Amino acid sequence: MDLELSDRERAFQAEVRAWLGENVPRRPLPSGDTAEGFALHKQWEKRLFEARFAVVSWPRAYGGREASLMEWLIFEEEYYRAGAPQRVSQNGIFLLAPTLFEFGTQEQKERILPRMAAADELWAQGWSEPNAGSDLAGIQSRAVRDEERGGWKLTGQKTWCTRGAFCDWMFGLFRSDPAAERHRGLTYFLVPLDAPGVTVRPVGRLDGDAGFAEVFLEDTFVPDRDVLGPVGKGWNVAMATASSERGLTLRSPGRFVAAANRLGELWRRRGAGARPGLRDDVVRAWMDAEAYRLFTLQTVTKLAAGGAAGPESSLNKIFWSELDVRLHEAALELLGPEAELESGPEAAWMKGFQFALAGPIYAGTNEIQRNVVAERLLGLPKGA
Ligand SMILES: Cc1cc2nc3c(=O)[nH]c(=O)nc-3n(C[C@H](O)[C@H](O)[C@H](O)COP(=O)(O)OP(=O)(O)OC[C@H]3O[C@@H](n4cnc5c(N)ncnc54)[C@H](O)[C@@H]3O)c2cc1C
Repeated sequence: MDLELSDRERAFQAEVRAWLGENVPRRPLPSGDTAEGFALHKQWEKRLFEARFAVVSWPRAYGGREASLMEWLIFEEEYYRAGAPQRVSQNGIFLLAPTLFEFGTQEQKERILPRMAAADELWAQGWSEPNAGSDLAGIQSRAVRDEERGGWKLTGQKTWCTRGAFCDWMFGLFRSDPAAERHRGLTYFLVPLDAPGVTVRPVGRLDGDAGFAEVFLEDTFVPDRDVLGPVGKGWNVAMATASSERGLTLRSPGRFVAAANRLGELWRRRGAGARPGLRDDVVRAWMDAEAYRLFTLQTVTKLAAGGAAGPESSLNKIFWSELDVRLHEAALELLGPEAELESGPEAAWMKGFQFALAGPIYAGTNEIQRNVVAERLLGLPKGA
């Protein structure tokens, strides 16, 4: 592909850069996984929406700009370069929205997408259960048909819902046909978290933030209009979301390029006298971030030509999550004991490190992604 930006792309980049330069909060917002931080992040999301920067690649009718994939990448790069706040809307805009575009009815798209883009409704992902994480098809939460009311009654427990304590809605998988084969009897539901029968209970996190939640459902009624995709085909619908999550959307390269550049700056300030091998670690983090950027451009080229992300998404996920851990480890080593300080100019590195440790787990663990690479890309025999 041609790596030079076109005139149109350059103009878009300049517009994004100028807007972010004027609007990104001067002081970082508190973590979006705390109640106070979540409210402030929501306000920020609304400002992005008003400037039509919340969902640049979406159709105009839903609040977007119909930006190309390339322009979306440019937006992301500028976003992280400017040190703009984390997106508390991410589960909705990056995970559910691509699925709605593919499987949603017109009514669902018109009802849900504009409110999602405007951060009027924020979404949690309700897939994992206490006994179903890697083995997602093992979920036990069930959906029972309620013919009289025209919908379903949901009962069960979801866990590890990111920002579930603060979100308005949850998308999740439920077993609608207990007699069907594991992958077949599932249906994808959209559930308001204030519906009768729903209890949201926060789960404490290593870093003290309170956004993680378990969600309990007891005969919670969900009307037919909140079933996404065909009944009994929830697995296929969910896998479309999983591929967006691991592939392009959840962690765009701008995030790592910006962090690697900040690591380079840290090295220039703190590198004198460091362990000799640490310089190589810093250089490697920078090169890996750049390699991920180039790999993503290759993926975008493939998608723009009508191709699909495919099992390569698993390679992506392994690469960015391990890069993130190494990059933060190098920063902590450079900081030495100062890395432990919970406030001050460098405190974000420790917070970033703690979150990086979760990268090899969420969005499907790296062991599972390695299984996918082994079986579907390398053609190795299936593990026992
Ligand atoms: C920060 C964070 C945010 C999350 N957010 C959400 C969310 O919003 N919504 C949601 O639904 N879930 C969320 N999760 C849950 C996440 O998807 C699960 O933790 C993950 O899928 C692993 O499932 P598990 O925790 O049940 O571990 P298990 O599946 O029990 O796995 C335990 C260990 O065994 C390994 N293992 C399991 N099976 C195999 C196998 N076949 N081959 C090799 N190794 C195997 C795993 O890799 C892992 O190391 C989040 C997790 C984290 C850490």
